[in-house]
Amino acid sequence: MIESLRPCIRGMAGYTPGEQPREGTVVKLNTNENPYPPSPRVFEAVRAALTGEGLRKYPDPLGTHFRRAAGRVLNLDPDGILIGNGSDDILTILTRAFVPEGGLIVSPTPSYLLYRTLANLQGARFQTIPFAGDWTLPKGWPPTGAHLTFLANPNSPSGTTVSISTIQEFNTPLVVDEAYADFAEDNALGLVRRGTKNVVVTRSFSKSYALAGIRFGFAVAEPALVHHLYKVKDSYNCDVLSLAAAAAAIEDQDYFRATRSRILATRARMEKALGELGFNVCPSQANFVWCRREDRALKPIYEELKQRSILVRYMNYEGYGDGLRISVGTDEEIDRLLAELKAIL
Ligand SMILES: *Cc1c(COP(=O)(O)O)cnc(C)c1O
Repeated sequence: MIESLRPCIRGMAGYTPGEQPREGTVVKLNTNENPYPPSPRVFEAVRAALTGEGLRKYPDPLGTHFRRAAGRVLNLDPDGILIGNGSDDILTILTRAFVPEGGLIVSPTPSYLLYRTLANLQGARFQTIPFAGDWTLPKGWPPTGAHLTFLANPNSPSGTTVSISTIQEFNTPLVVDEAYADFAEDNALGLVRRGTKNVVVTRSFSKSYALAGIRFGFAVAEPALVHHLYKVKDSYNCDVLSLAAAAAAIEDQDYFRATRSRILATRARMEKALGELGFNVCPSQANFVWCRREDRALKPIYEELKQRSILVRYMNYEGYGDGLRISVGTDEEIDRLLAELKAIL
């Protein structure tokens, strides 16, 4: 049957997610998970969803309860919210909805590598445009003619942001991937609240809400567009447990703010300490920091850390070069990282 595969599937490489070691002894700073557990209310909500009729029946395909909760907390129209099995599911739905086979997807680079995979799956062309040296968008961005433009904001791996005043100038179909926006000073939800029609904002529960294992994300756009996007998703793309967990998590804003401020404090400490160890550290608006250096090869540092049971992400981008992307862990984890780095360097 292999010969019957669509040529674009046979020809593509496939996305490689970060390593997920299963033994618990590794200090895991490679995929930007939250170092703190989810809100206690999440466990209560999941437990409640497990009792009674919870598992026997199909989930609510619209995620009504979650949409109302998110609408209240974020001051959004619930009809402008699309639920997803992780924000990657949302990105897939958007690609299927907007990009025809042979169509064009555009993204700045270096950025989230999944965008290329999505273009490959769709049989679409993928065009990248390099960020300027200071991680601003180059002149002439976005190019015209794209069926969809992906902008990770904050960006991965840099942790930098493009200003909302810049984003609001664009008039191409634009997805602002805000997987990390909860750690940033600003976000694009205001554009949607003000009725901007060419922008879809995507959010993830994997990082700021500590629910990477449950797989939940959502998109925010004008309600008339979201109405069409519901036709593209799987009917039951979110299960009862993830819907219950996500609603409970977003309703507990006190807990959310407490863990976020701990992460932001650790991030500031990390940036300073890594700078003192000779890394060029990009000021981050996310829950990771991007570190480069010219005087030492970075791959061996990554490997040395791994030997010492500390996992960070080594990234090497064509036309740009390499760096280490290090997630903000607990203070104890970062102390260990810094001590091992001192020993290695
Ligand atoms: C983590 C991440 C996502 C995916 O988040 P999930 O909700 O876990 O699918 C999307 N975009 C970027 C830039 C990310 O880093």
